[in-house]
Amino acid sequence: MDLELNGKRAVVTGGSAGIGLATVRLMLADGARVALCGRDQDRLDAALAPLSEEFGGAVMAARCDVLEEDQVAAFRAQVLERFGGLDILVNNAGQGRQSSFASTTDAEWEAELRLKFFSVIRPTRAFLPDLKASDAGAIVVVNSIQARQPQPHMVATAAARAGVQNLIKSMANEFAPEVRVNAVLVGIIDSGQWEKHWREQGEPGESKDDYLMRAARERGVPLGRIGRPEEPAAAVAFLASPVSGFTTGASLEVSGGTSRFA
Ligand code: NDP
Repeated sequence: MDLELNGKRAVVTGGSAGIGLATVRLMLADGARVALCGRDQDRLDAALAPLSEEFGGAVMAARCDVLEEDQVAAFRAQVLERFGGLDILVNNAGQGRQSSFASTTDAEWEAELRLKFFSVIRPTRAFLPDLKASDAGAIVVVNSIQARQPQPHMVATAAARAGVQNLIKSMANEFAPEVRVNAVLVGIIDSGQWEKHWREQGEPGESKDDYLMRAARERGVPLGRIGRPEEPAAAVAFLASPVSGFTTGASLEVSGGTSRFA
């Protein structure tokens, strides 16, 4: 299916790894121009080099911590200088925190709530005028299935994710009809986060593939495996594209069937 992304201008936060990077690649392959950001310059360089080789000037990367207002403003200035406007914002940057209620300190709660909310609020506020000026303005938030179905070892992350789901609905109502806002609710997806979990929690001698299969089994994923970054990326690209032009305030699960909700 042609997603009609040709010529569209997109920002993907946290586009230097995992789901974000897969989204960047997919959108570029579909003819979009894409700006990605992240905090670590080496990771940005490593992501950008092969993409620039394949897609030339259609891709740009900049260092930006999405929690820092001045950095987001500087990133926006770079994007506008290069692309002259923006049609699509993918709020993807972030990571999960493994903790129970008992083990989460006040400082950790504050950090988690700040990360989950402001990683959406800051880029959205900065780019909203540009998205409103577009005739195809769309925001997609990469959120987690934990927003609906908390797991005991991710209490703070799950609560924050649920709040973000609520925020997405408000944004969808407030920004309509100019800008659509949708979410992708991801389950366990093979990415930098899971590489880290494997290194920290894998059994001695356990391969990454075996660890990931065990993780999927322990979580009862009906499709019996962990997801690939390209799978949520396809959902993000669809919701970001004009093809889904009558969809706003919606959530699409990409979790291998993990959700118990109809
Ligand atoms: P990765 O760790 O593979 O990639 C995360 C990306 O976000 C990196 O590019 C990272 O770059 C960037 N990033 C993190 N914090 C910031 C920040 N403050 N400002 C700018 N960039 C930032 O993660 P995933 O691809 O797995 O995760 C993508 C999203 O999906 C996240 O929001 C995550 O919480 C969510 N998710 C993932 C799940 C999974 O199983 N993979 C499950 C549920 C939700 P850098 O560190 O250099 O800044």
